[in-house]
Amino acid sequence: MFQNILDWLACPHCSSDLVLTDTKKTQDGEIIEGQLTCQACKVTFPIRNGIPRFAGHEKSDFENFGYQWNRWGQVQIDRLSNHRLSEQRLLAETDWGAEWFQDKIILDGGSGAGRFSDVAAGFGGHIIAVDISQAIDACRENLSIHGDRVHCIQASLFKLPLKKEILDGAFSLGVIQHTPEPEKVITSMVRHLKPGGKLAVNFYEKNFSTKLQPIKYALRLFTPRLRSETLLSLCRAFVRVFFPLSYTVRNIRKVRLLSHFLPICSVHNPELTKDQQRAWTLLDTFDWYGPKYELRQSHVRLGALLEELKLSDIRARPGVMQATRPLDKINRP
Ligand SMILES: [Zn+2]
Repeated sequence: MFQNILDWLACPHCSSDLVLTDTKKTQDGEIIEGQLTCQACKVTFPIRNGIPRFAGHEKSDFENFGYQWNRWGQVQIDRLSNHRLSEQRLLAETDWGAEWFQDKIILDGGSGAGRFSDVAAGFGGHIIAVDISQAIDACRENLSIHGDRVHCIQASLFKLPLKKEILDGAFSLGVIQHTPEPEKVITSMVRHLKPGGKLAVNFYEKNFSTKLQPIKYALRLFTPRLRSETLLSLCRAFVRVFFPLSYTVRNIRKVRLLSHFLPICSVHNPELTKDQQRAWTLLDTFDWYGPKYELRQSHVRLGALLEELKLSDIRARPGVMQATRPLDKINRP
């Protein structure tokens, strides 16, 4: 944890300032082990492995992501895997443009191993990467190259340990459907946007695609309850059997539709080598079956939520929405 994050941190319970009350170990200007204390309610929060930890017992619902991102931490990081898929997706789903990120304070809500935080920091942003699971440890390791431009925090998106109105931007890509209350995540992030701050959220759209994936949803009736190691063995077996088939038909348009009925999440992006496609397929298959929650959202409903929150420039389409907090203080939520 770099000390300059204290300017932005606040108690997740009462929003008061936090102070550093213990520093057991530091390294290259970073606090590795220590403790933060709320000045008002006196609740303490540990700093372990360089990360301030605010997540409570609810983090146990997300252990699959901790396992996943510590196992495949580097697979989707552009800089470490020689592709630009994370950059392309961040730009497409925020619509902010690479230049906009320069010197902005930006929240990555549900960072995982940090694929999008890495790109955003590369564009010159100051990034606050938040994840409730142990994935945040993989994120810190992957992104240490950015120094104090990236701050990693383990916390719930429902109770962000941040001061109000400090963010120029907040994005959350592929995350909210995996929480028990997706709309609450959006409301929580908006609270920390400055007037004029931008929001971008990508999510699973509620549509007919669940009917196209009968095997996935039948298996999901029990797979989220499996131990991560057991689930990995099952996913490995599926990928071993079905990846060669989906790889063979990847360029045959009509036949490719059949791959929806396979029990694997096939990834055949031509920017990736065949070995990378197999690794992404295993990762994304694990990501299908592991999450406890998969609550698909309607962009129409989420667009209405953004209006209720009095945001402006609302753009909502299936799976993606963007908005801005108005500058006019009277209109603030
Ligand atoms: Zn407090």
